Amino acid sequence: MLRAYPMPEHETERMATLREFAVLDGMPPEIYARVTRLAANILGTPLSVVSLIDDDRQWFKASTGVEASDMPRELSFCAHAICQNEVFVIEDATQDERFSSNPFVTGEPGLRFYAGAPLSVREGLNLGTLCVLDTRPRTISDEQKQLLADLAATVVDTLECRLIIDREERAKQRFIDAIECLPSGFALFDRDDRLVACNQRYQTMIPGMTEFIVAGTRFEDILRRGVELGQFPNAVGDEENWIARSNQTHQTPGHLHEYALPDGSWVAFQERRTSDGGIVGFSYDITALKQQELELARLAWTDSLTGCMNRHRFMELANIEIDRASRNGGKACLMLLDADHFKRINDLEGHAAGDEVLKGLVQRWHRVLRSHDLIGRIGGEEFCVLLPDAGIEAASRLAERLRASIADLPFKFEGQLLRVTVSVGVTAFGEGDDLNALMRRADMALYEAKEAGRDRFMIKAA
Ligand code: GH3
Ligand code: MG
Ligand code: MG
Repeated sequence: MLRAYPMPEHETERMATLREFAVLDGMPPEIYARVTRLAANILGTPLSVVSLIDDDRQWFKASTGVEASDMPRELSFCAHAICQNEVFVIEDATQDERFSSNPFVTGEPGLRFYAGAPLSVREGLNLGTLCVLDTRPRTISDEQKQLLADLAATVVDTLECRLIIDREERAKQRFIDAIECLPSGFALFDRDDRLVACNQRYQTMIPGMTEFIVAGTRFEDILRRGVELGQFPNAVGDEENWIARSNQTHQTPGHLHEYALPDGSWVAFQERRTSDGGIVGFSYDITALKQQELELARLAWTDSLTGCMNRHRFMELANIEIDRASRNGGKACLMLLDADHFKRINDLEGHAAGDEVLKGLVQRWHRVLRSHDLIGRIGGEEFCVLLPDAGIEAASRLAERLRASIADLPFKFEGQLLRVTVSVGVTAFGEGDDLNALMRRADMALYEAKEAGRDRFMIKAA
């Protein structure tokens, strides 16, 4: 019958620690083998083993002169050695009642001598041993015991170093797994603003930049590279200032900053300072949001019937043009166009016919106007046109063409021909004018055109 093995004082804690070290199972056996060779050589024994004592088994991590890879804990000499903190010595096992009937003493290989130094993680917490064995009885000097203890301590140091490296690698892997799961791009910069780590979303957020968004790169250099590659259309023509501004925004974390990309997509970045002076950045694809925003703005600016600008938007942009003309001493003309006797069209042909005519007016005028001219519907059947950089002669010629484009060709509606004319009031920007002044004069000119018989343009000079 097997004898029970002695129980170390802190067995539960010892086993928990052993399990922590179990992650090192895959460690190259040569690390242990080197020590067993050294121990056997220095102490002049034929056998040496590094072993770990598990719940009920002893595992040989490496051995010199021993074939087996494990044995029951009950038969283990080392199970005794781990119960104290000194080097455990049996000079002749046949003379020791604890071991004299051990099958490794009575049978093969006929063990007699054993000296085992505990692998001590800390006082009393011994994971296993480094031991030397012989089939002849022997004695061991204090100096030899110290050598064995020193070698055992080296094994523990190696194990602990490996454990730290392993923990670090696992922590790093866990961090990478976590940031890859984030729904946004994520990047961590150190206090010198060099990229420490980022997830794939961040790395691939800007097409064509993936290979430059790598650890060690400074944020400013990422921006600069992006500018060189033409990835930031808003930087064109103002590159250095744009880089400085964008870098400044990055350095003052808190708010969201947006970038338009050449493929029409948009990304937003948001940064936060870390406690050690670094920066964490999050990036989001905001293309869908931007498209919605633009669509909403377009709806808010557009007259839904004719598709030209509504009054509010026209006034806003016209004001900008007038301000520009005031500052630069430039030219600009304004005209008001009003459909003649439009009430009659509604009365005789119906409101739907009136609507079609209003749409038709704008379509025809778009063909006559230049792309930078502004046209807005400012009342029911009343439109306003602003001509930047145009003098009164050019504006008069254009007014005539706009008038003729309507009068010369009737509109077709449900098989009917609708003859429509418009009257136009024209004025030019003069010194001290604001938009209201221009509108008032154009309105006077329009009134005169109506009074004079309609289907014509009149000019009211500045
Ligand atoms: P005048 O030559 O003096 O400008 O005569 P007018 O009939 O055009 O002027 P008035 O101001 O008396 O009438 C404008 C008409 O325009 C009245 C209104 O029913 C019509 N109108 C305004 N907005 C719309 C619209 O969105 N659709 C249609 N079909 N008619 C509209
Ligand atoms: Mg009218
Ligand atoms: Mg009117």
